[in-house]
Amino acid sequence: MKPVNLSASRTWSVHSRLAFEEDLDALLRSVGLRPTRQRMALGWLLFGKGNRHTTAEVLHLEAIEVGLRVSLATVYTTLNQFMDAGILRQLAFNGKLFFDTNTSTHYHFFIEGENVLIDIANDDLALGKIPTPPEGYEITRI
Ligand SMILES: [Zn+2]
Repeated sequence: MKPVNLSASRTWSVHSRLAFEEDLDALLRSVGLRPTRQRMALGWLLFGKGNRHTTAEVLHLEAIEVGLRVSLATVYTTLNQFMDAGILRQLAFNGKLFFDTNTSTHYHFFIEGENVLIDIANDDLALGKIPTPPEGYEITRI
């Protein structure tokens, strides 16, 4: 079994980081959220690497790793505000809550034992057709 590595290792130049912060600032304002330092910092962690699925716990650890002093409760509050504003989607799998930055309608592979979600491309979905699982995985349940 091959592990699937979803962590996008994207490095940001100073320019793209600044450009992204402007975009994030505009995104938050466009949905009526004031771009506070905390929202900007968590938003940068959340949206800065393209579409992703994460849990509040994982995001909290990432925040601590980059030196943000933020509690898990604050992370939850911020995620819920992003969700209420429609820029984040919540999903429940195996009793665990995930947050998805892709708010469009789409389906997921859930990799049991790893608690990892992978998007299923909409092109892969058709009535009566089961999507091909990632290499090394088999579908046990739909
Ligand atoms: Zn997704």
